[in-house]
Amino acid sequence: MNKKLRKAVIAGNWKMNKTRPEAKALIDGIAPLVKDADCDVVVAVPFTNLETAINATKGTSIKVAAQNVHFEKSGAFTGEISADMLVELGVEYVVLGHSERRQYFGETDETVNKRTIAALSAGLIPIVCVGELLWERECDITKEVIARQIKLDFFGISADDVKKSIIAYEPVWAIGTGKTATADQAEEVCAFIRSTLAELYSKEVADAVTIQYGGSMNPKNAAELLSKENIDGGLIGGASLKAEDFSVIVSATK
Ligand code: PEP
Repeated sequence: MNKKLRKAVIAGNWKMNKTRPEAKALIDGIAPLVKDADCDVVVAVPFTNLETAINATKGTSIKVAAQNVHFEKSGAFTGEISADMLVELGVEYVVLGHSERRQYFGETDETVNKRTIAALSAGLIPIVCVGELLWERECDITKEVIARQIKLDFFGISADDVKKSIIAYEPVWAIGTGKTATADQAEEVCAFIRSTLAELYSKEVADAVTIQYGGSMNPKNAAELLSKENIDGGLIGGASLKAEDFSVIVSATK
């Protein structure tokens, strides 16, 4: 399958930023700038901003994501949010396994796998993040790390459900550091993710999955990264908090 046939998706990960009025103002700023986008545009906002974001994006092409979801349907899980709760609000995507969740909140491939299954069964599109630590890259085990994450995070998930999922390759050393993987480094790993999917599922499945790059993507480096055959979009942290910068990245998918 040609890259042009895959869905290009640019998603902004706002992390723990923006109050509700600030969230509305940012979405109001982004919406007119991305109205002619050739790709899907998503904003992953804090839980407290979801309703504000759903309302502010009505009538625009922007979709809303949560930044995590619990894997149980309901019950005694204080502080957690279920997939059905997100769907009921109008949320369409959810970021899972972000390296900050893995690093600071004990997220493991096993829980990412459970969350991915829960998200897909509720009809959410998961954006599953994978990526190696700097130490792992230096030890030349990037591909082993990524293959392990893909195998575990998608364990037991059907080919049809994998096709609905998005995978974000985010080298941990490039997140929020200002250090970007070169376009060739990013392409090499994204191509490897696709070949791992082809081995686990089939070439047809691998060709259909949208793979994003994330890690200090910005208006200056986005076009080169997004020109690569296996990079179908981006997961953007810092640069997604400025409407102008985010919209330049969205335009770079053209
Ligand atoms: C992210 O949070 O997923 C991310 C890629 O952050 P940044 O763009 O700031 O590196």
